[in-house]
Amino acid sequence: MSTSYAVPATEISSVAINGTDDRFPVRRIFCIGRNYADHAKEMGQEVDRETPFFFTKPADAIIPSGTTIPYPKGTKNFHHEIEFVIAIGSEASDVSTDHAKDSVFGYGVGIDLTRRDLQLAAREKGRPWDAGKAFDQSALMGSIYPVASVGHPTDARIWLSINREMKQDGNISNLIWRVEELIAFMSSLYVLKAGDLIYTGTPAGVSPMVSGDAIAGGIEGLGELELQIA
Ligand code: MN
Repeated sequence: MSTSYAVPATEISSVAINGTDDRFPVRRIFCIGRNYADHAKEMGQEVDRETPFFFTKPADAIIPSGTTIPYPKGTKNFHHEIEFVIAIGSEASDVSTDHAKDSVFGYGVGIDLTRRDLQLAAREKGRPWDAGKAFDQSALMGSIYPVASVGHPTDARIWLSINREMKQDGNISNLIWRVEELIAFMSSLYVLKAGDLIYTGTPAGVSPMVSGDAIAGGIEGLGELELQIA
C-alpha cells in the first residue's frame, strides 16, 4: 500500500548522468571549505591541514545547468564558487584512503552558490553558515560522468566566467584534501550512501553576481554548465 501524505511530498532531487537517461538521485549534499590554498588566502583564512571542515545544503537545493534563477532573497553579495563534485554510488563507512574511491559513482562540476554577506556575518559571530550557504536553489550541478567513462580525474582545469569574462581559473590538482582523503574523512563521521554528493571546495576568484549576469563554468573532461541571474 502506498503512503498517503497530508501535504504534497517533495520530489526526489536528481542530476543528469552523461551518456544515459538514468538520473542520479540526490540524498545529501556535503560541501568542503577552504580546500584550495589560493581561495583560503583570498578569504583571509589559514589552511588547516589537521582536519577538513564542511557544511551541508538540503538535497532540494539542487538546480540543473541552464537554470535561470531570481537574485536570491536576503543578500546584497551573491557569490559563485565553481567546484569539483564527487557523486557517491555505494555505502562507505570508516573506509581507508586505499579503498575510498571504490564508493564513487562518478564526478561532475557544480557551483556552490553563496550569500557571502550572510556567511561572513555568521562566521564573525561563530554562528552556523546555513543562511549563507544552505538556501533555496543554492547548488547548481552539471551532468555526472561515471567512473566507468572518466576514471578518477586528478589533473583537470576548473574555470568559471561571468558574461564571458574569466573569474576563476584553477586546476583540481591543487586540492588540499584529495578525493580519497575527503571520502575517508567523511566516512569516519557518517555512513555515506548512494546519492550523497561532496562539493570539494573552490579555487580563487570568487566574486559577486548581479541581475542579468550569464555564468558559465566547467571542468576539463567533466562538461560545462550555465546559470542565468534574472
Ligand atoms: Mn564552496
